[in-house]
Amino acid sequence: MAGGWSRDGAVSEQIEASIAEELERMKARRAPMGESRTHCAECEEEIPEARRTAIPGVKLCIDCQQERDGRPVSRAGFNRRGSKDSQLK
Ligand SMILES: [Zn+2]
Repeated sequence: MAGGWSRDGAVSEQIEASIAEELERMKARRAPMGESRTHCAECEEEIPEARRTAIPGVKLCIDCQQERDGRPVSRAGFNRRGSKDSQLK
């Protein structure tokens, strides 16, 4: 059964190659495009130094980035209303 294992080996080699390829593609997509901006590209808000250090090539302030990521903002309002009710009692 020598043919059996060599075929398996070829298959897993192929899988590993495609994983490495995929990782490269992901890295390229995440790679910073140019230098970090000191001010947000959308609202001109100053981007904190810490954020620029943490995310090389950052273009947006936290607010604009979260908006772009589509983070739900309504949940905070829901929580606030809940704690207000408990304070009144
Ligand atoms: Zn902004």
